[in-house]
Amino acid sequence: MRCVVANWKMNLTSDEARSFCESMLAQFTPKAGTEAGIAPPFTMLSLVSGLVRAKGLQVFGQNGHAEPKGAFTGEISMAQLKDAGCTGVILGHSERRQYFGETDAALAKKIQAARQNGLLPLLCIGETLDQRDAGQTLAVLGQQLSILAENGAGPLWVAYEPVWAIGTGRRAEAEQVREAHAFIRAELNRHLGAAAAQVPILYGGSVTPESFPELLGIPEVAGGLVGGASLDPKKFAELVKQAS
Ligand code: PEP
Repeated sequence: MRCVVANWKMNLTSDEARSFCESMLAQFTPKAGTEAGIAPPFTMLSLVSGLVRAKGLQVFGQNGHAEPKGAFTGEISMAQLKDAGCTGVILGHSERRQYFGETDAALAKKIQAARQNGLLPLLCIGETLDQRDAGQTLAVLGQQLSILAENGAGPLWVAYEPVWAIGTGRRAEAEQVREAHAFIRAELNRHLGAAAAQVPILYGGSVTPESFPELLGIPEVAGGLVGGASLDPKKFAELVKQAS
C-alpha cells in the first residue's frame, strides 16, 4: 500500500480549503492500493471531510487529546475529531513535540485513545540536526518507537520526518532515508511481530513532485507526509499520482 498525506498545518481558510479540494479532486484519480489523506486545521475538518470522503480520501486531525472530555481548554478529543469526519489523526509531529511539549508518554495515551475512537494514528518520529550530528539518529528513533512495545495492537501508520528536513527545502539523502526506514521496520517487527507488516512507513521532510519518485524507490518508503507542497492542489494531486 502507498500513502500520501497532506499536512496543512495552520494554513488556509474555509474558502481556500474548498477551492483546494475542488481543484485537487478535478485532477485526482483514485487507484486501488493508494491511500490519500488531508489533515486540515480543526475548523475545516467537517468541510473537507464532506468534500473528499466520498472520493475515498482520508481526513486526519493534526492532533488530539487523550482524555475523552473535560476541562482542557483549547484541546480537542478523539471523539470530536471522529464526529467532525476524521478517519485518522497525526500524532507526535515534531512541531507538537518542539513547541507544545508533546512527550512520548502522552503519545502512548493518544495512540490508545485514537484507536478506541476508531481513528487511525499516524505517528511521526524523527531526529533533530543536533541529534543526527551527534550520531544519535537511530537511538532517538528507537526511543520514540518504544511506546509501541505496550501499545502495539491496532491500526497504525508511521512517518519518519527528520526535523531538519521539515519546511527547510533540505530533503534527506536517499541513503539516510534508507537507513532510517530499515531501522524503523526492524523496530516495528520487534515490537509488533507479524502485525508490523500492516504498518506503512511514510517519509516526510521537504517532499516535492520533483523528489518524490526517487523517495518512492527506496525500500520501506510507503509514501509521504507532505507539508509545504501539499498546499498546492496541483502538486498534491501529482504526488498522489506518483504514488499510484
Ligand atoms: C510536515 O509538516 O510534516 C512536513 C513534512 O513539511 P514539509 O513538507 O513542508 O517539509
